[in-house]
Amino acid sequence: MINEIQVKSILNRHKKRDSWFLDDYSVNPYGGCSFNCAYCYIKGSKYGENVARALSVKTNAPELLDKQLSRRARKGEYGIIALASATEPYLPVEEKTGMTRRLLEIILEYRFPVHVGTKSRLVLRDLDVLKEIDERAILPDDLKPKLKHVA
Ligand code: SF4
Repeated sequence: MINEIQVKSILNRHKKRDSWFLDDYSVNPYGGCSFNCAYCYIKGSKYGENVARALSVKTNAPELLDKQLSRRARKGEYGIIALASATEPYLPVEEKTGMTRRLLEIILEYRFPVHVGTKSRLVLRDLDVLKEIDERAILPDDLKPKLKHVA
């Protein structure tokens, strides 16, 4: 059974935009990662060497994300969200928890653009939400001329 934790914040704002993926924010629905890839850069971080053992789901993530994105949207602080930066958003456990999908639905509601990094086919389950995000998301002003879909 997966460990359940409560966190204080779910939306991390980067000090500087990522120059490769162009994200200004990141969201990690899980702590640790059951894939435990040999090359994973989170190994040796607070999750230790075996990041599969550290796996947990952040149960209060949806309420927090709703609050944090609503505040950012009110101020017009749109930016690409990396989902996720320190875990895999489509772990096998996601089939049961649906946590990543709930977070995507909130991201869609507030019209933030998202970048999903995954090695799992489970992402196909959420193509409907991802497509809608792609159509409706509001890009930060400076990225509008550079990226294809703009709102
Ligand atoms: S899937 Fe990504 S986050 Fe998970 S262990 Fe592999 S590299 Fe790390």
